[in-house]
Amino acid sequence: MNWRAWRRQWLTEPLYRMARETMPSLSLTEQQAIEAGDVWWDAQLFSGNPDWKTLVNVKPVALTPDERAFMDGPVAQVCRMLNDWQITWQHGDLPDEVWAFLKQHGFFGMIIPKEYGGLGFSPYAHSEVVRQISVRSVTAAVTVMVPNSLGPGELLMQFGTQEQRQYWLPRLARGEEIPCFGLTSPEAGSDAAAMTDSGVVCRRDIDGVDTLGILLNWRKRYITLSPVATVLGLAFKLSDPDGLIGDTPELGISVALVPTSLPGVVTGRRHLPAMQAFQNGPTEGNDVFVPIDALIGGVAQAGQGWQMLMSALAAGRGISLPSLSAAACTFAAHTSGAYARVRTQFGIPIGKFEGVQEKLGRLAGNAYLVEAARRFTCAGLQLGYKPSVVSAIMKLHATERMRQSVNDAMDIHAGKAVIDGPANYLGNLYRALPVAITVEGANILTRSLIVFGQGAIRAHPYLMKEVVALGNSDQLAGEDAFDAVIWKHLAHSLKNALRATGTAWTAGRFVAAPKGSRAAAPYYRSLNRYAAAFALVSEVALLTLGGSLKRKEMLSARLGDVLAELYLLSAVLKRWQDEGQHESDLPLVAWCAQQGFATIEKRLDDVLLNLPMRSAGWVLRALLLPPGMRATPPSDKATALCANLLLEPSDTRDRLVGAVWEGHDSPSVEQLERAFELVVEIQPLLDRIKHAGLRDWRLAHASGAITDAQANSLEAAEKAVAAVIDVDDFAPGEFERQPV
Ligand SMILES: Cc1cc2nc3c(=O)[nH]c(=O)nc-3n(C[C@H](O)[C@H](O)[C@H](O)COP(=O)(O)OP(=O)(O)OC[C@H]3O[C@@H](n4cnc5c(N)ncnc54)[C@H](O)[C@@H]3O)c2cc1C
Repeated sequence: MNWRAWRRQWLTEPLYRMARETMPSLSLTEQQAIEAGDVWWDAQLFSGNPDWKTLVNVKPVALTPDERAFMDGPVAQVCRMLNDWQITWQHGDLPDEVWAFLKQHGFFGMIIPKEYGGLGFSPYAHSEVVRQISVRSVTAAVTVMVPNSLGPGELLMQFGTQEQRQYWLPRLARGEEIPCFGLTSPEAGSDAAAMTDSGVVCRRDIDGVDTLGILLNWRKRYITLSPVATVLGLAFKLSDPDGLIGDTPELGISVALVPTSLPGVVTGRRHLPAMQAFQNGPTEGNDVFVPIDALIGGVAQAGQGWQMLMSALAAGRGISLPSLSAAACTFAAHTSGAYARVRTQFGIPIGKFEGVQEKLGRLAGNAYLVEAARRFTCAGLQLGYKPSVVSAIMKLHATERMRQSVNDAMDIHAGKAVIDGPANYLGNLYRALPVAITVEGANILTRSLIVFGQGAIRAHPYLMKEVVALGNSDQLAGEDAFDAVIWKHLAHSLKNALRATGTAWTAGRFVAAPKGSRAAAPYYRSLNRYAAAFALVSEVALLTLGGSLKRKEMLSARLGDVLAELYLLSAVLKRWQDEGQHESDLPLVAWCAQQGFATIEKRLDDVLLNLPMRSAGWVLRALLLPPGMRATPPSDKATALCANLLLEPSDTRDRLVGAVWEGHDSPSVEQLERAFELVVEIQPLLDRIKHAGLRDWRLAHASGAITDAQANSLEAAEKAVAAVIDVDDFAPGEFERQPV
């Protein structure tokens, strides 16, 4: 007891006072963003000692029979109805029959529970639908994504009153209402909370009835689906100057549902985002009056809008763009591998050139990793978590890897992907990249501020409790709470420091890997080592920089990258295990692990070299990054092994790229796959002809060295390849853009 009292008086109290002074001041919106959602596997990584049993036991995602039937039925059918070339360059919109089909089959109500007439799909099923549609048409994918992501549906389910749910959800599920969500205004983009859009609580005579409501004025832009929306979820700042709903004059950000048919709503004009044809545009409201029950969640939620949005984002951000990105990475790997096999230059398939192999290897690795992370994240969402830090990691890193993969694919296809037309299956995906990078939290901001900034406080085992204690207005109670955690925190940090140093100098050799991890055991051990190093470096950065770490965005971004790599690599190991630990898939696991470990070390090193307290940086470098034992990126041989997986048919190739194109009747991709199969089939024959010293199969045929049937296969392959390498051209006047 005496020791406790002594510690409280002589150690905790001065420490508390000092920490209170240096603690970063958090704005209300920052605080609400940090508090939104849950922590999940990110917390394990932040502890520095992840429990692999938890990872191994996460139930792998799977579709229910109903969900599978939906994929095989309406999803396959709508994919066949999508012609991206016509949608983008001729219609400038989805055709009417596609809009009708999407509404009729409930695509806009995938996340709405069955009791309200929605499909009630799991996060994984929702993700699968987006993934399949994405490779056929970004316009269609975005159109389906938005009502199922951050928007009226999700907000109503989380915060709506019973009456609101009962009224709106069935209408949204049936597609009778098309929703959009308006947050961004011209002056408030990334800093969305700086919006000037306003709502004033007032009374109005509506059809002879005195009605309590809100007078709204707004100017929003970039709003997806807004030109065709029938209901706008609107974020605005609410004030109640006459005290009609309480005694707070400035309530702050709130969210209301506004029918776009109301007088004063100006809507219908379109933006043209990166030449994509999905509906997007500005919306304006001039003195629009809505009854008070238009507030989502009613008066009880007035002023809670930011927290509501952050909470809705915590789940949705982990599904929409990561699913599109996973599809794009897989599609880029598939098409590039097949194209590099059928396209020959200098007499050999271009996929055999080392320069091309470097890109193919990365395409294969990225495809494996992003798909692994998509499944793992869906599994977490399926467990009921709304992991805000994980979903920010996914949004950022899945879209960045998509950017890298689509760029690599463009480079490999060269002119074939540059020339636009119906035969170009990559160009539109390439143009759409900046949309994914910008929306749902632009990537620079997400990397610099959110991943580590939010992760450090949310996912750290003690920091959140300390921040709450430091912010307590009752200083004595705050000191008590601080005393209860700070010493545990220090003991935890000390243990981490010892573990991080020990595992760094022994390359993690003596750390336990999960039972049955087989060939992946060394990767688990290394991940343990890096998690401990990350935890230690984070502690030191937080301790030495305190509140100023918030402004040190380059340091925060690098620490966020380390957390992200740890998360993505956990997902890779999980995928390998869940798919049955195929030895033939190990080159992909190895490539991802080597690339990830090298990135982790580089980022940690850069943090330590740039820590303002140079001495701390140098000590930690010596402890955590022993010279001569540094991780290196995948070797050329490892990269070539992955590249070759895309150049030959195999079970591994099927697992890696098979699922995104099969059965989807995309003429140009089907043509490519057919050419690939034929080229593979005739290869032994061509080798024989070459060994016989004959230059050309026609000569071989003429000389009787090959049969008629063999000559026919060779000719068929040649024609198939010619069709693939063909690009579109247009007669003057034939190609005319229609006005949108
Ligand atoms: C096609 C499209 C669809 C969209 N759909 C919708 C929608 O349906 N509803 C909706 O409300 N909004 C929508 N948006 C808006 C989107 O969310 C914003 O574009 C986004 O938040 C960024 O705002 P901004 O474009 O004004 O960029 P800015 O805020 O001007 O940012 C410019 C750059 O600065 C960086 N930056 C800003 N602050 C920081 C910081 N503190 N630290 C580091 N970097 C920073 C950003 O990352 C970005 O790279 C859409 C946008 C587009 C392009």
